[in-house]
Parts: sequence; structure tokens; C-alpha cells
Amino acid sequence: MENCVFCKIVSGEIPSPRVYEDEQMIVIKDIEPKAKLHYLCIPKKHFTYLSDMDEKKADVLKHCFQVIAEIKNDLGLYEGYRVIINQGKHGGQTVPHLHIHLLGGEPLKDF
Ligand code: 5GP
Ligand code: ZN
Repeated sequence: MENCVFCKIVSGEIPSPRVYEDEQMIVIKDIEPKAKLHYLCIPKKHFTYLSDMDEKKADVLKHCFQVIAEIKNDLGLYEGYRVIINQGKHGGQTVPHLHIHLLGGEPLKDF
């Protein structure tokens, strides 16, 4: 997808150190962390909304959540963490490439 910052990070056009990578996803640190630890889990294949979901995309997201559960301790999230997927304007989505926020490393405020 042209002009998508996360596609450019996935392709390497924009350099961004990965804390995890496999054939379907990457995990990077958020450039503007909203908690002591703030990661972004980004599926390599571009799609924007959960409502774009089909079997293949559902499999990718399933994989993402399984990996998150496997690597959480390596990421320093052993005391718990928050998972957020912002969707659309009211959801506060600023990058139109679906991604999963992982926040933790400290007690998070209620929202
Ligand atoms: P959204 O608001 O779409 O749910 O989340 C987008 C997130 O991506 C924001 O938290 C923002 O700080 C982060 N972000 C935007 N551009 C970059 C970038 O170039 N590198 C990294 N690591 N994070 C980015
Ligand atoms: Zn993209």
C-alpha cells in the first residue's frame, strides 16, 4: 500500500528496529510511547479495519494474538498489559494499517 507508514516499516523503506518478526507480523516500539512500555504489533499484509476481515486476515490476527501471549514476558509485560486496536476516526486511529497496541511496564490508568 503506497504511502502507508507501516507498510514502509514492514518493507524496510523506513528503518525501525523490530523486537520480534516472523513471516506474518512484526513488533516494534511505538515512536511516542503512551506508557512505560508501548509496542505495536503490525501484520505485514496491509488492511485497515476489523470490518475488512476474511478468513485469511482472521488467521493473521489469531497468529498475532498467539505470538503476543508467547512473547509477553520477553517484552517485559509479565505483570500484565493492555491490548488496544483503534478503529476509525472516533476510535482515534491515525495509521490506516491495522495494528495492535501493547501497553504496560507499569500500572495503567483506568479508562
Ligand atoms: P493509532 O493512533 O493509529 O492507533 O496508532 C498509531 C501509532 O503509531 C501511534 O501510537 C504512533 O505514535 C505510532 N507511530 C506512528 N508513526 C510511527 C513510526 O514511524 N514509527 C513507530 N515506531 N511508531 C509510529
Ligand atoms: Zn500499510
